[in-house]
Amino acid sequence: MLVLTTKAELRDHLDTVRRAGRSVGLVPTMGALHDGHLSLLHAASAECDVVVVTIFVNPLQFGAGEDLDAYPRPLERDLELAEEAGADVAFAPGAAEMYPQPVATTVHVDGLTSRLEGASRPTHFDGVTTVVTKLFNLAGPCRAYFGEKDYQQVAVVTRMAADLDQPVLIVPCPTVREPDGLARSSRNVYLSTEQRAAAPILHRALRAGIAMVAAGEGDARAVAEHVADVIASEPLARLDYADLVDADTLEPLATLERDSRVRILVAANFGSTRLLDNLGTVVA
Ligand code: AMP
Repeated sequence: MLVLTTKAELRDHLDTVRRAGRSVGLVPTMGALHDGHLSLLHAASAECDVVVVTIFVNPLQFGAGEDLDAYPRPLERDLELAEEAGADVAFAPGAAEMYPQPVATTVHVDGLTSRLEGASRPTHFDGVTTVVTKLFNLAGPCRAYFGEKDYQQVAVVTRMAADLDQPVLIVPCPTVREPDGLARSSRNVYLSTEQRAAAPILHRALRAGIAMVAAGEGDARAVAEHVADVIASEPLARLDYADLVDADTLEPLATLERDSRVRILVAANFGSTRLLDNLGTVVA
């Protein structure tokens, strides 16, 4: 696996790859790789000739008081795991390489970013869309793999790529979970033993909500309230939101119409660790 740390090397290398008629798959990450990230690399390897993993803890997407400094950065292990999972190139720049001067230009996706995660983390998505645009500009035409674990992020990035005619096909990939249902996340390492034991409540609550929809409940708010109640029943969980939304627009729904694609999204804190999860279904 080729390890690159400068933007110029990445751009040159991938230009050469494409000139040789080979396709590029891009997997943007913040490192601390786990099975969720590796599933994106496997999907990219199956569909693209050259797979690039990017490993960059992006300061722009962390709010004041968030875990930027504490965020795990096990680079050597990440490189080993990425290579095993089929990455051909790792791009692991430092912050000064990505942001050599204070950022004056950012990318903002309106609407989709104002609710859910955006309501609690007002600067987060601008940080994501700005760094992802930079990575797309460096990588050039490619397929880019994102996890549905961060469902709103996939929606935001998909809208951005469409609005800005970015030459990138966004490929959403399913959430990878622990055996007890907890979504894999680089932040799970922060959880105490007790918090780790409590955290699968998010997945259980989502499944209870999906079961209500499958049983024919027509009131979207009743479903969202039930999901919230299940999470609130866990003393170690501090609920931020539990919303049932249209799977494409992320607009909250009042009633559940037949054949509509819906998604339930939740966020909760376990101590100072914020965890997200979501599940979707088609209303029968
Ligand atoms: P991160 O390093 O947390 O920024 O995540 C990088 C990419 O991996 C994003 O597209 C995430 O949605 C994706 N990802 C993170 N956790 C999972 C998971 N459990 N299953 C699938 N994809 C994931």
